[in-house]
Amino acid sequence: TGDFTTVEAGKLHMATNAAFPPYESTSDDGGFEGIDIDLAQKIADDLGLELVVDDMDFSSVITSVQSGKEDIAMAGLTVTDERKQNVDFTDTYATGVQVIIVPEDSDIKTVDDLANDKMIGCQEGTTGYIYCSDTPENGGYGEDHVVAYTNGATAIQALLAGKVDAVVIDSQPAQEFVKANPGLKILDTEYVSEDYAIGVSKSNTGLRDALNAELKKLKDDGTVQEILDKYIKA
Ligand code: GLN
Repeated sequence: TGDFTTVEAGKLHMATNAAFPPYESTSDDGGFEGIDIDLAQKIADDLGLELVVDDMDFSSVITSVQSGKEDIAMAGLTVTDERKQNVDFTDTYATGVQVIIVPEDSDIKTVDDLANDKMIGCQEGTTGYIYCSDTPENGGYGEDHVVAYTNGATAIQALLAGKVDAVVIDSQPAQEFVKANPGLKILDTEYVSEDYAIGVSKSNTGLRDALNAELKKLKDDGTVQEILDKYIKA
């Protein structure tokens, strides 16, 4: 693989929002855990770098890579055309889809019911927010019907407190949140499946190439699948 430099010599700085299980969350011992953490650790080990996890709001993850403060963005990060204008993405290593979480006794039964003057909680800057805040002509509900929270955990707290009627979030985190908070359930949507990949600065193509070579190796030898299976219980 080609040459690259990192923000801090010998280290790989990872920008993430550690409130998005099973991809990243804080662990009981005060560290971080999840699919992205394990995968980044493997990659850093192979590249001979020390992994440094930098926890921040999701809405800062891409900009921090773009501005050269962080080496990589790994945050269950969906590849979108708009984001591609700001950062490069590696090959994809996982997929997700947006789903709706509602209280068990909610009158929201399908995605169509969200249009009936409901308030929807989303995470700031996420694809879920982008879909929901779009105009009704484009399949959204309009900005006035969406409340942006800094992370998934706080959106769920707002739902439990009755401040919003539903939360739209990625499917695997949704399952974790529902497991941890009795009284909530998940409605399926027909939103398209999203690809998760690692965001890298456009000026660090050497690092992007090295990450792609690593991802290929870790996919081929079964490591990526092993990490996904460890955190996503069928
Ligand atoms: N996959 C979604 C996105 O990229 C949400 C990611 C997250 O909240 N960590 O917008």
